[in-house]
Amino acid sequence: MKLFFRKRQETAVFHLPESGQEIRQLIEYREDALIGRTSVISEGLLQKASIFFGETDAELIRDMIQTSRQTCFFCPPAVFKATPTYAEAVCPGGRMRGQSTLLFPNLFPLAAIHSVLTWPDHHFLRPGEFSSERLTDLFLLAGQFIAAIRRVYPDIRFLSLNCNYMPPAGASVLHPHFQILGSREPAHRLREVMDAAGVWHQTNGHCYWNDLIDVERRTGDRWVGMSGDWAWLTPWSPLGSNEVMGIHESAETVFDLEDNDWRSLADGLSRVLKMYDDQHYSSFNVCLTGGCCDTTAGQRCVIRVISRQNVRSLYRNDEYFLQKIHGIELIVSPPERVAADLRPRFES
Ligand SMILES: [Zn+2]
Repeated sequence: MKLFFRKRQETAVFHLPESGQEIRQLIEYREDALIGRTSVISEGLLQKASIFFGETDAELIRDMIQTSRQTCFFCPPAVFKATPTYAEAVCPGGRMRGQSTLLFPNLFPLAAIHSVLTWPDHHFLRPGEFSSERLTDLFLLAGQFIAAIRRVYPDIRFLSLNCNYMPPAGASVLHPHFQILGSREPAHRLREVMDAAGVWHQTNGHCYWNDLIDVERRTGDRWVGMSGDWAWLTPWSPLGSNEVMGIHESAETVFDLEDNDWRSLADGLSRVLKMYDDQHYSSFNVCLTGGCCDTTAGQRCVIRVISRQNVRSLYRNDEYFLQKIHGIELIVSPPERVAADLRPRFES
């Protein structure tokens, strides 16, 4: 099996209302090389990018910060009193602490393990303020917790580390936070990727993710750079807007990540988020996954970062029939352009 970046094209034909001039617009469907999921890019849409994302309303964000601070239970002292706790065997005292970070169970869990990680002293951070140091502190705490989970709950086979930042990305709490989900089984969509990577490995005798790194590094259009053992690139067929991926060259599951891996992940992610901030994107999602701890053949740890609609009153949702029902993602900024913007930020 060879790694193919497949695409097909269609042409939409219509006439302009006043002049009657015939317009032909090229539409390109791109297929993900592993699972065949499609994304669509339209010539016409490229000129509409700024309208699509909308402009961030800085004044609205200031108001939201002020209003939510008064009742925020991720701020001190509430975060040390009003949040739930884990059993002593998981972490003595019930909540795990990093240098300036705190981890506790989610009050409304969606999985057997569902934790919240936050910086209690920062009720708000801009995307560019998720510095390498801050993320390192949070990720090292995640690593410490994951080791405890492995010890106490050996039936938890699959883990992910996630972030919804600001309401357009699904955050119900403004205070910046990450979430760890742990289950016996991955969600269907993640399972599909894992299974396909397993089949790729079985058929070819090598790892799809390493093959992808090799191709993208060689061809260069979507290549970004390295941070430690993480290879950063933009996907041929993105899952979301301005998507950037980091692939660990050898770690197969999130359980395998060591302190230096978490540090270099923090370094890479902070560079991506700084670019989003500089380009005035004010909402994003992050998801880090890997294989199940006992099904590792052909698996790698992969982090995906996408931007969402900008924070403004009555922002337009970016998940409609096309994404939710057809399962096709819209490409607003071409991945090759996102990579070109991000590449210099990985060179220093
Ligand atoms: Zn807060």
